[in-house]
Amino acid sequence: MPASLIRNLVTGGAGFLGSHLCDRLMESGEEVICLDNYFTGRKANIAQWMGHPRFELIRHDVTEPIKLEVDRIWHLACPASPVHYQFNPVKTAKTSFIGTYNMLGLARRVGARLLLASTSEVYGDPEVHPQPESYRGCVNPIGIRSCYDEGKRIAETLCFDYQRMHDLEIRVMRIFNTYGPRMLPDDGRVVSNFIVQALKGEPLTLYGDGSQSRSFCFVDDLIEGMIRLMNGDHSGPINIGNPIEFTIRQLAELVRDKINPELELICKPLPQDDPLQRQPIIDLAEKELGWTPEVALEKGLEPTIAYFKELLLLHNV
Ligand code: NAD
Ligand code: UDP
Repeated sequence: MPASLIRNLVTGGAGFLGSHLCDRLMESGEEVICLDNYFTGRKANIAQWMGHPRFELIRHDVTEPIKLEVDRIWHLACPASPVHYQFNPVKTAKTSFIGTYNMLGLARRVGARLLLASTSEVYGDPEVHPQPESYRGCVNPIGIRSCYDEGKRIAETLCFDYQRMHDLEIRVMRIFNTYGPRMLPDDGRVVSNFIVQALKGEPLTLYGDGSQSRSFCFVDDLIEGMIRLMNGDHSGPINIGNPIEFTIRQLAELVRDKINPELELICKPLPQDDPLQRQPIIDLAEKELGWTPEVALEKGLEPTIAYFKELLLLHNV
């Protein structure tokens, strides 16, 4: 193999975003070590690369240290959906804090550049709308989302302290709601929930009255932003997301009309600390990375619906 081949470590590489990232890195001829503990990741997501000479799979938990020779660490390992990160909140906090600490330690030891998959959740239930990177957030430190929100906030802090103390090359990406093929059908996130409910002919469940908003980014756009951030010179934090805002009711209507316009929308209680609105300002990503999302929600829903249709058929549910 050529000496200049880039060696990538993708933590959380068997998950939704991680597996799409592995695809992109493999397709561009790089070497990939995919590390995952399979909490929410699946081998099926990266099965296409098993046995490839440039691909390696390691079952490992990032809360334990590991020694590997790599050039770039894409640190994505962490459950991302409220259902999964609230399943064992102490473990979620450990994954964000100790997991990021371990990966930064590894990056320092081998001189690798590290990209952290942070989140728009660092803004909490924002009082500033839409959200620029300079907004410091409104996070409840003791609520049911805190293990994730505060976990990611300390993970960001660690990154910038490693940069200040050790001159480590870091990239911090604040990811806004992203959707696409390979989301888990049962992880409770709104796009997968609505599509699976509609495909099963069930009513779509609006939490609250559905007037809360989110901005939905298609996975291909997100991965393009992630790669540009890693390859560029800007440390971040940088918002990556689609700035077009939808209410959850609008999303439900869109999904319902694409799958079965007869279906009912029903209201269920709004979970505690559920942010009322969220929309990224992406001027920094446009300026620093030349990045802007290209896939409209209408369009991105199509391959996502096709993915779940096949999955449900395969599993006969
Ligand atoms: P995901 O749950 O599909 O992927 C997370 C992966 O990390 C899974 O494969 C899981 O098994 C693995 N993992 C979890 N804990 C681990 C541990 N302790 N050790 C090793 N592996 C572990 O979620 P995703 O949507 O692909 O999210 C990936 C990253 O992006 C996460 O860090 C998440 O916080 C961040 N993010 C995602 C979104 C989104 O909308 N998808 C939004 C904001 C931030
Ligand atoms: N939501 C909903 N019905 C569902 C699942 C989620 O109305 O079946 C709402 C949820 O309350 C939140 C929004 O959709 O306001 C996005 O939820 P998700 O869990 O996808 O992402 P997050 O809240 O982390 O942004």
